[in-house]
Amino acid sequence: MSLREYNRKRHFGVTPEPRGKKKLGREQRRALAFVVHKHQASRLHYDLRLEWRGELLSWAIPKGPSLNPSVKRLAMQVEAHPLDYASFEGTIPEGEYGGGTVMLWDQGTWMPEIENVRDALQAGDLKFALNGKKLKGSWVLVRTRALRGAESGNAWLLIKHRDHYASRAEVTRTMPYSVATRRLLASIARDEGGNVEKAAAGDPKKLMRSLQPKPRDRAAGR
Ligand code: MN
Repeated sequence: MSLREYNRKRHFGVTPEPRGKKKLGREQRRALAFVVHKHQASRLHYDLRLEWRGELLSWAIPKGPSLNPSVKRLAMQVEAHPLDYASFEGTIPEGEYGGGTVMLWDQGTWMPEIENVRDALQAGDLKFALNGKKLKGSWVLVRTRALRGAESGNAWLLIKHRDHYASRAEVTRTMPYSVATRRLLASIARDEGGNVEKAAAGDPKKLMRSLQPKPRDRAAGR
């Protein structure tokens, strides 16, 4: 799960994503960063990234995070990404690895809620707190038995702990905008020369409709 794997999959002459380099010695100086990317690639998913030891540990979550403690969301651990990826938003050219549109869906800081992160990762039970714009409070990532079609050892579940921030609201639906630029996926694709139609498939349909001019409203305003 290393940056070598991250670099191997990409052509940096073609994609605007940052090159993978480790940045050590940051843990003591400031809070640890976390981001969630909303990524419309061949399939829509969310990527949870936690800063740890100079890189971003990464999990791809097909359905995205849920604030409901009774909902477990599959989170496939993927290769670590470079720290600079925490500020990436834009389009990855089609045909490149992860080709599509990437939105900075949430960002903030995280804190381990266990003594030793390395041991927790090894044991497959990482408890942590998020302080983001959308995701807050206590969470756990638990490694689970390999599911059908999944590489063994990479399947985890992301679960919200019961606390003040737990909710039944479907946060992926109620908060669909970029925390960095307030854009929807379609606007990011439009601004950055991506496939707008494909990106729009990841935006809430109701919102997309409300962005279109409504002939009926014009008639009513007569
Ligand atoms: Mn992704």
